Amino acid sequence: MSLEKLDADVVVVGGGIIGGTFACLLGQAGLKVILLDASVRQVNSLKKVDARVFAITRASEQILKKSGAWRRLHENDIAYFRKMHVWDENGLGEVQFDSASICQSTMGYIISHQAIVDALQEKLLDMDNVRCLWSVSAAFIKEQADAILLETEDGLQFRSKLVVAADGSNSRLRSLANIHYQKHDYKQSALACVVTSEFPHVEVARQRFLKRGPLAFLPMKDPHQSAIVWSSAPDHIQRLKEMEQSAFHFELAEAFANELGEIKNSTERLVFPLSRAQADHYIQSRMALIGDSAHTVHPLAGLGANLGLLDAAALAEVVIDANQRGRDPGRLQVLRRYERQRKGENQGMMYLMDGFKQLFENQSQSVQWARNFGLDMVDSLPVAKHAIMKRAMGLKGNLPDAARGHL
Ligand SMILES: Cc1cc2nc3c(=O)[nH]c(=O)nc-3n(C[C@H](O)[C@H](O)[C@H](O)COP(=O)(O)OP(=O)(O)OC[C@H]3O[C@@H](n4cnc5c(N)ncnc54)[C@H](O)[C@@H]3O)c2cc1C
Repeated sequence: MSLEKLDADVVVVGGGIIGGTFACLLGQAGLKVILLDASVRQVNSLKKVDARVFAITRASEQILKKSGAWRRLHENDIAYFRKMHVWDENGLGEVQFDSASICQSTMGYIISHQAIVDALQEKLLDMDNVRCLWSVSAAFIKEQADAILLETEDGLQFRSKLVVAADGSNSRLRSLANIHYQKHDYKQSALACVVTSEFPHVEVARQRFLKRGPLAFLPMKDPHQSAIVWSSAPDHIQRLKEMEQSAFHFELAEAFANELGEIKNSTERLVFPLSRAQADHYIQSRMALIGDSAHTVHPLAGLGANLGLLDAAALAEVVIDANQRGRDPGRLQVLRRYERQRKGENQGMMYLMDGFKQLFENQSQSVQWARNFGLDMVDSLPVAKHAIMKRAMGLKGNLPDAARGHL
């Protein structure tokens, strides 16, 4: 293949957390990358509180470190959760996890979407071999003999060895490639905002399973601020969104059994429809899907972006390895290694989240009893508890090398 004729080794479509991380990982390895994003570049220069907040695992921390973006996060952007408390509205069963019990300083981090995207963009703009284009939307792709051509809506054309779709759950690239996306509508929405509570959160992430869906409080840097994610039936969420602020604060505190006392203040309430989905294929010749363009899961365990970061790290390893060996990274035989590593893992997590959701929403007396018994059992069995923690934190499992820095 004649490299002179190519505009880049890889074109990445979508500069969110997953596409941005993938582009950084390739850029760090010296590959020539073009990253396109349809949105206007937004820098959170006013440092407004962002209600879209992620629980980031230790494995994701390693990937973001490897990408070079982690050290560009400001100290004030990173909150810690050292413990986790999970309990059921119906019954007395509960589980408490503590990172100190497995000799770790923290279970993970709470960081806003905007802070991570800002750090990634700062890193990307520093690399001469990465070119970023904002307000540019992918419109057309065509495989050629030794490359793939991507055309944007404004008629720009880019030829590369590989195009990577990181353009989210409504991926245009996935549709252009005719890859089917099996979607299951949960008939639930999630409401997200940042609230100020009467009592401090003391760096504990809390989740209460209510009849209609889970309510999570994620501790932020300010000891009295938490990011909440409340999943419930769409009409309930819409009512909560439209409610007058003091009524919302009252209903929220009550739903959370006043664990953190009264709710004193809250930011704008955002609503997200919830579904699980998985693309039939993550790859085809000269193309790969990563992040939400490949799969979405229920946010009850805060895993979506963490799974996407594992995709980004796994695909980056495959592409960098092929490049170093002088192999063409766009070839199906090369890309298969990525699909084998990630598709089954993501599917397993998707069904596990489904299982939890159904288990906690089932109101039959016997299931309620078994659920509370199960929570107490896990709580009283250190071996099981530690195994669950290590898995959830990304300290164990089938991980790409970039996620293993801490081991
Ligand atoms: C309520 C809620 C809470 C969540 N909490 C957590 C959590 O705690 N932890 C966690 O790990 N995950 C969480 N998730 C999941 C997480 O939000 C997603 O998995 C993650 O944001 C996916 O990132 P992405 O980069 O794949 O997609 P997106 O964030 O959707 O980014 C896609 C990018 O592609 C661009 N784009 C779109 N179309 C085009 C086009 N045609 N051309 C060019 N660019 C395009 C967009 O502008 C955007 O920048 C949560 C989700 C929800 C709904």
